[in-house]
Amino acid sequence: MAEVKFVNVIKEFEDEKKGKVRAVNNANFVVKDKEFLVFVGPSGCGKTTSLRMIAGLERQSSGDIFIGNRLVNKVHPKDRDIAMVFQDYALYPHMTIKENLAFGLKNLKTPKAEIEAKIKEAAAILSIENLLDRKPRELSGGQKQRIAVGRAIVRNPSVFLFDEPLSNLDAKLRVQMRVELSELHKRLGATVIYVTHDQVEAMTLGQRIVVMNGGEIQQIASPEELYENPNNMFVAGFIGSPPMNFIKARLDGNQLMTADYTLTVPVGLLDKYKAYQKEEVVLGIRPEDIISLNLLNHQPNHNVIEPTLKVVEHLGAELLFYFNIGEDQVTGRVGADAKLKSLSKVKLYINMEKMHLFDPN
Ligand code: ADP
Ligand code: MG
Repeated sequence: MAEVKFVNVIKEFEDEKKGKVRAVNNANFVVKDKEFLVFVGPSGCGKTTSLRMIAGLERQSSGDIFIGNRLVNKVHPKDRDIAMVFQDYALYPHMTIKENLAFGLKNLKTPKAEIEAKIKEAAAILSIENLLDRKPRELSGGQKQRIAVGRAIVRNPSVFLFDEPLSNLDAKLRVQMRVELSELHKRLGATVIYVTHDQVEAMTLGQRIVVMNGGEIQQIASPEELYENPNNMFVAGFIGSPPMNFIKARLDGNQLMTADYTLTVPVGLLDKYKAYQKEEVVLGIRPEDIISLNLLNHQPNHNVIEPTLKVVEHLGAELLFYFNIGEDQVTGRVGADAKLKSLSKVKLYINMEKMHLFDPN
């Protein structure tokens, strides 16, 4: 049983050039017992620092950290019942794989027979039995990754910490390992805290996701909730690919005036956005909510626009197309059966039921 909790955690570094750098600013969250929680955000937003504070490799400047209801501020890393998997695998090059797997357990004075049994079990789970006598340099990137995970598994921790473990693997292997990590999580029944800058990885792995930017938590929610109801423009633009379109507009009653078109806001959304009345706003609309009229069997009587497409990209099953509204470039995504062509004029329906409004400032 282990939940992990941050209460008002701040971490400041003393940087020679920049002075005080606040890497994590007042973080509060609870990772539930047995949850797979992902931290996601751009490089430098404080993900690794957060993870290292949980591991005890970094001491917070202020605030409290709990693991399994125990205040661990002063608890040594090896007594926190966690295991961490690093991006660069951190295997010992002069040891065999078996010795690498055994190393942490030997340090904990685990009896030899027990070490043997645990390695055997982990090797079976990860299908690495045939690699045990090799040295790390004789392994591929994907195999090294497995060993790094194996080294965490043999410790049987209640919390696994992963710091961008797949970022050194090629795209195909990354997808395969992603599925394996999901399965592993179910099988081990442990709490997993996973850090990545890749929003696709976050969306596919996380039961819940913590979106960070500039040391601040932007939103904590399930993948579906982040996608459907982003808290702010940062989250809206970070989650989803191609990203949500942002279009300058002005709201007046149920009319949303963009540079080129007037769109109608659904009645059901007016109350949600009433603070934006008569204000400059940013309309957020996802690429898949811009729909080619030739794919609809009803003819909508509003929110139809007719831009000239600048470029159409064929991605097999889908088309991406690009046009402008005023100065804002807009991306749309439709099934390939829409048969759109570059430089053609096309009627598009904007599904305003799915719109978001943001404060431009
Ligand atoms: P991420 O893992 O999200 O890329 P980090 O947690 O590594 O981000 O870093 C967050 C911020 O803290 C960055 O601005 C980084 O430069 C700074 N930082 C991290 N570690 C140190 C350190 N040991 N000394 C000074 N600044 C650091
Ligand atoms: Mg990092």
